[in-house]
Amino acid sequence: MRGVIGLDFGTTNTLCAWMDGENPIIVPNERGERATPSVVAVSDSGEILVGSSARNQALADPHSALFGVKRLLGKARTAEFGGSIHSPEDAAAAILSKVKLDAEHFLGFEVDSAVITVPARFGDPQRRAVRAAASRAGLKAERIMNEPSAAALARAWVSAKDDQDRLVLVYDFGGGTFDATVLRAKGGSCFVLSSEGDDTLGGMDIDTALYRDSADRFKSEFGIDPDADPYLARLLVDLCEKAKIELSTRDEATIAVPFLRGPDGLVHPSVKIDRLRFERIAAPFIDRSMALVQRVLGSAGVRASDVGALVLSGGSSRIPMARRLLGEAMGREADPRVNPDEIVALGAAVEAARIEGRLHGLSFTDVCSRTFGLEIDDGRFIPLIKKNEPLPAVGRQLFTTVEDYQRSVELHVIQGEDARAASGVSIGRFLLPGIRKAPKGDPRIAVEFTIDEGDMLIIRARDMDTGVEQSIAVFDGGLDSRSPQDRVLALAQIARRESAGLTVDAALSKELEEVLAMVPECAGDDQKAAMTATLLEGLLSELSARSALTDALHVDASELRFPGSGLRSSTEVLR
Ligand code: AMP
Repeated sequence: MRGVIGLDFGTTNTLCAWMDGENPIIVPNERGERATPSVVAVSDSGEILVGSSARNQALADPHSALFGVKRLLGKARTAEFGGSIHSPEDAAAAILSKVKLDAEHFLGFEVDSAVITVPARFGDPQRRAVRAAASRAGLKAERIMNEPSAAALARAWVSAKDDQDRLVLVYDFGGGTFDATVLRAKGGSCFVLSSEGDDTLGGMDIDTALYRDSADRFKSEFGIDPDADPYLARLLVDLCEKAKIELSTRDEATIAVPFLRGPDGLVHPSVKIDRLRFERIAAPFIDRSMALVQRVLGSAGVRASDVGALVLSGGSSRIPMARRLLGEAMGREADPRVNPDEIVALGAAVEAARIEGRLHGLSFTDVCSRTFGLEIDDGRFIPLIKKNEPLPAVGRQLFTTVEDYQRSVELHVIQGEDARAASGVSIGRFLLPGIRKAPKGDPRIAVEFTIDEGDMLIIRARDMDTGVEQSIAVFDGGLDSRSPQDRVLALAQIARRESAGLTVDAALSKELEEVLAMVPECAGDDQKAAMTATLLEGLLSELSARSALTDALHVDASELRFPGSGLRSSTEVLR
């Protein structure tokens, strides 16, 4: 037997869940813990440690461990710990692979795929990095799912008998990210209306602010400077987090580190933090979350009083001040049946079972949490799929050329929310060669973006005048988040089509044949598939160049523009 698990890969903790019959359950790790700290470290003997062991190792040697790798994914190229440099994807893969092993041990069968949750605000590069990390851990990411949507799905599953049509607000405040989502739920169906968030807002930021406050007090009251001692700093951050958690149920907490050597001998620094002091420190972060709650209500087009249920998710949603302010803003209390630490993982397990076809009577529609489009010649960003469109989403638009007799256009795919392409995130560049020879503004280039429920972005470009769908050469491969095997098959198909109408020299033709012959051998071999995909991409660029040159034999050399770059938005919109 094989199975698809649900994984909540959090900044602080990673949770694994499985749908056991009709009930989603948390899969404990090897130590029996329901959550594995998302920490990776290298031991003195060079062993890779994950979870609580890595966390403990960090106390002995802070430089040996990496915390919060999720925040680095898709953003940083390297992470340094244990005396060497690693990629964030490899560090995340170490965590995922340990969780996978523990799950296999507990469940008693092989686990090769997962539904992995990410903050709704995660951009495309971050999602790709999560997929890459999963793949390195031997897990196929069946679906990358938005965390608040997973929380909503878990709630929909447990309250499937609740036949009332209601609006639900999910307040998801984790260790490193915050998301607020509004959805409509009735019985076993739920439909996300809107999601807003901030992937740089989480409990970790409150810990850092508490650390700043305590470190300053250690310095002024006891002459001890934690900033100058990484060991003490690591210990103090941990104690601040513990004090923060304590303050969720008590009015006062103490942060103490006995037996430190001060300027005049041994000291036992200890500072008290009461609720009031804590709330003053935490307020800027909680206020930011509340501003996003107001924003999501606005983008969903609903009032606070329309919301019929509140779902809290993420450990930081346990902070009493957050609950109080949310309750005041929404005029209601949160759903008490929900455990905020586990609901996202449980929702991922529900989705995993849904994908496996094990659940019936549950329908779920998510939204695209980002805006995707193209950069055009004047540097503007033209959105094709807008944020909060229901999935699957399709966006089509006609474009044209900016120069007379332009033979190719560059499609620069951007994820952004601003009218200027430069302020968005570059996802990848595609070349569309072989445009019909015509005065500028005449060719009609249809571009279609599709995002499926699995959050996979697929782009097609077609010359409307000839009716022929053009193949595209992938420049940096950035866009393609499919498995290496799917990618090889797609590229092979394009290469066959592109070479069909073309007379190419014997050497290129032979090379193409040889590479195409490798395609069937790629099944089940990621490394071979990745290598073949790279070879095919190179050949495709070659073929694109040849096709432009073949055409050029019949046109004036001055008319040949390859590679070209001009793309303009046409006023016509495709239907
Ligand atoms: P998550 O990403 O959902 O695992 O959330 C982890 C974050 O929640 C960390 O920053 C924890 O310090 C924080 N957290 C967990 N429990 C509590 C609590 N009872 N009160 C306040 N914060 C908490």
